[in-house]
Amino acid sequence: MQPSQTQYSKPRKAGDTDTHVRIALFGSTGSIGVNTLDVVRRHPERFEITALAANRNIEILARQIAEFQPKAVAVANTDAATELALCKPGCEVLSGEEGLRELASRDIYDTFVGALTGFAGFAPTLEAIQRGKRIALANKETLVVAGELLTALAGRTGSDLIPIDSEHSAIHQCLVGESPESIRRIILTASGGPFRTLPKELFAGITPDAALKHPKWKMGRKITIDSATLLNKGLEIIEAKWLFGIPLSKIEVVIHPQSIVHSFVEFVDGSVKAQLGMPDMRLPIQYALASPERLDQTYDLLNLVSSSPLEFFAPELDKFPCLALAREAGERGGLYPCILNAANEEAVAQFLEGRIAFTEIPILIRSAMEAPSAEASESIEACTEMEITQSLERIRIADTAARDMVQHHAGSRITV
Ligand code: NDP
Repeated sequence: MQPSQTQYSKPRKAGDTDTHVRIALFGSTGSIGVNTLDVVRRHPERFEITALAANRNIEILARQIAEFQPKAVAVANTDAATELALCKPGCEVLSGEEGLRELASRDIYDTFVGALTGFAGFAPTLEAIQRGKRIALANKETLVVAGELLTALAGRTGSDLIPIDSEHSAIHQCLVGESPESIRRIILTASGGPFRTLPKELFAGITPDAALKHPKWKMGRKITIDSATLLNKGLEIIEAKWLFGIPLSKIEVVIHPQSIVHSFVEFVDGSVKAQLGMPDMRLPIQYALASPERLDQTYDLLNLVSSSPLEFFAPELDKFPCLALAREAGERGGLYPCILNAANEEAVAQFLEGRIAFTEIPILIRSAMEAPSAEASESIEACTEMEITQSLERIRIADTAARDMVQHHAGSRITV
């Protein structure tokens, strides 16, 4: 199925730009979460935190509750939730995965910020979309796993999906006032990660510590490893397809080590637009929260002379097979992106725990993608309630099977 057509310059509803925005921040204790709170802190007249959610880091969460005084919080880890509730933090504490879903279903916020890591973000985001909320989305895995279902639902409920990912924020900004037919191609930039210039023969010896040292961005552990394998850019190709209604064949990747140009759009007349800025996630977060308005708040300003030269290279697919694997999963469609994502999440966890080599990550993803039956490429329907329920069940089964397969293979150590 083709991605849905998007109206890029969708105006906010009347009066929205000068209203106070109530925010539910899911993933508040992580890198995007903390940056989002910094943006909110700088605009108390515009933004208010009414709900927070995290997994287990209750020390940070308790400090955030004291500062931002949300009406309710949700903690996925049930022991951590109990511990936080016993401290009487001054707001309601919901617990477990069900608690996160319940919080996302409450009518106590206007904008849902999706900043959880991985598949954990899927259920609360689905809940928020079903309620027609505005979605500021960092959690790309959610769109990778079920972009077809979520964008179809968002179209029906009127939920706006605004990207936080810097590349997609750049594209979103380039497309304001443009029509889908005028796009020739989208070019996503990638820093290339810490191993861009490392010879391929040395990849098998890459340690988690080395892979966690990203040259440009300070991010959570999972996305940092994804950036080192370039799987992150592959996820972003699929994310762009669903966000902008563009086929994968029109989405390309270029390596840009300086991370100053956040992405390009080329139009049918050959004109190319780009968005530039210093690598600081607060800028795309602020844009996602306020757009189409731009708030008068700057972070580090770009100095073109000191940032030069700006370089661009073609990605080396033989060194970074995860990029091609992701494109293949996106082209196969159906459950393949879900399988790719689940296998990768599990493989990255195994790599971080020292159980598999860096080079085994793509091998395990490939094995998981070879396993499913032909029905895996069938599209994920979302027209009726019954279809949504059936699609969710298919997604859960495919996710679990891919994780199980990687765990099983990782246990038997593949030779690279
Ligand atoms: P972090 O690892 O820093 O933070 C993840 C957040 O999710 C934490 O609040 C964590 O809670 C919570 N969390 C993790 N697992 C679960 C779970 N099972 N249930 C509920 N909550 C959970 O990640 P990032 O902030 O770096 O990334 C978040 C998302 O944003 C990812 O999808 C990533 O791809 C995307 N992104 C990130 C960018 C960045 O610059 N960091 C840039 C672009 C996109 P706790 O701390 O309590 O464990």
